[in-house]
Amino acid sequence: MHCPFCGANDTKVIDSRLVADGHQVRRRRQCLACNERYTTFETAELVMPRVIKTNGSRDPFNEDKLRGGIQRALEKRPVSTDDIERAINTIKSRLRATGEREVPSEMIGNLVMESLKELDKVAYIRFASVYRSFEDIREFGEEIAKLEK
Ligand SMILES: [Zn+2]
Repeated sequence: MHCPFCGANDTKVIDSRLVADGHQVRRRRQCLACNERYTTFETAELVMPRVIKTNGSRDPFNEDKLRGGIQRALEKRPVSTDDIERAINTIKSRLRATGEREVPSEMIGNLVMESLKELDKVAYIRFASVYRSFEDIREFGEEIAKLEK
């Protein structure tokens, strides 16, 4: 790829390693013209199923939206970016593993809840309270009680 600083064609890879549990390659590159260094991430592009929304419309799978929802729930929580990326990769592989061309949005919501439950209980409750929009405080309490077990 072209150097993002000067646009030159010649860059060399100075370091390459696997990240996100081997789902991603991180490369440090250096431009041979201006010597600036930068990082690229490489992931396999695999076809994700489309998402059937509750109103019946279909949307392309949106990883940024998924990441945004998870990050919002995890705001100010002690969970690393690596753990978040790992959770996103797990959710994506599980969606692909369905072999379906379209999946209901609830399925994604449920997978997010499962991931958050393992990552951080507070984030899980935050997400669940918005996503499930608990009917009343008793239902919310029951969910917390289940976690304490
Ligand atoms: Zn350059």
